[in-house]
Amino acid sequence: MLPSNSRFQRLSQAALSRSRFLQLAAGALLPFVGLRLSAAAAPNPQLAQNGGASGTKDAAASGRMGAILVNQFGPVKIHSYLSPTDGFHVNTQIIEGPTAVVIFDGQLLLPYAGEVASYVQALGKPVDRIILSHAHTDHWSGLQALTERFPDARVFALDGVADQIRARGQGRLDSFRPIYGDRIATKVTVPTEIIAEGVQRIDGITYDFKRFVDAESDLQLAALLPEQKVLMAFDLVFSPNEHLFTGADHFDHWMTVLEQLKVLQGYDTLTIGHDTPVNRSAIDSTITYVKRAKEIHAASTDAKTYNESLKAAFPDLQHAEWVDLSAKLLYASPR
Ligand SMILES: [Zn+2]
Repeated sequence: MLPSNSRFQRLSQAALSRSRFLQLAAGALLPFVGLRLSAAAAPNPQLAQNGGASGTKDAAASGRMGAILVNQFGPVKIHSYLSPTDGFHVNTQIIEGPTAVVIFDGQLLLPYAGEVASYVQALGKPVDRIILSHAHTDHWSGLQALTERFPDARVFALDGVADQIRARGQGRLDSFRPIYGDRIATKVTVPTEIIAEGVQRIDGITYDFKRFVDAESDLQLAALLPEQKVLMAFDLVFSPNEHLFTGADHFDHWMTVLEQLKVLQGYDTLTIGHDTPVNRSAIDSTITYVKRAKEIHAASTDAKTYNESLKAAFPDLQHAEWVDLSAKLLYASPR
């Protein structure tokens, strides 16, 4: 099927106002990673470009905190829910087929996962399954809300992801609790099903699931939708507008993985783990960033130098808190 009807349509956007963000950050995020607020609070230009008159109206009517973009390919719709800034701009991808819905990733914060659940319920189709892309907390914590609202939906992940969450999940939630209070999950949601690599058809939609290691995270799912020519890259690819999370220290192999993605011809729409969908040029901008970060890491003997040098190298990017967190993790133990 040709993506002839592909288009983005902003259904809603309730941007977190700067003052509201500062209020939240002062009480919550700053003690955690030392956010640089000016960049993190900047509005997303791509959202604005995608906006339409009907979307603005919907946002006002719904009062939704997150933003939802819809990319339509004939009978298949990809709804991308984007959390406000305090939820790390993390995405939940909602794939709506002819008779069912598949949800990818569960948000960091319960209120945003709740918005995803309400939106999915309004689509009026059963949730076939929930698929988790990797074991970072900002992608699975909110699964609690989704599994409560959709108790029949099984939760899938790559083999190994459930073990990581079982081992470290509670500790992660405990570390977020002082920051987010009851907005973070109260219990760990561990995937119960293993997603196999390779081609599967779900509700008439073809998915080609791929497993990658040692990139932004140790273990990362990606999915190709060959009929829609969509690459669901999750945290393998970042927006050209935003800093990357480089705390896992896999610079070289991450670049190798990105080169593998570049070989995939014809996939011009990429959904990513944070921020709005991008085109394939984001693979190149991600490579450029990882390469520069690797050089700066090699030349920096401490977190402060890495942090300042990387921010200086990419002064216009949003989400500088990723640099703060990455620097902290990269230099947490002696090199
Ligand atoms: Zn992420």
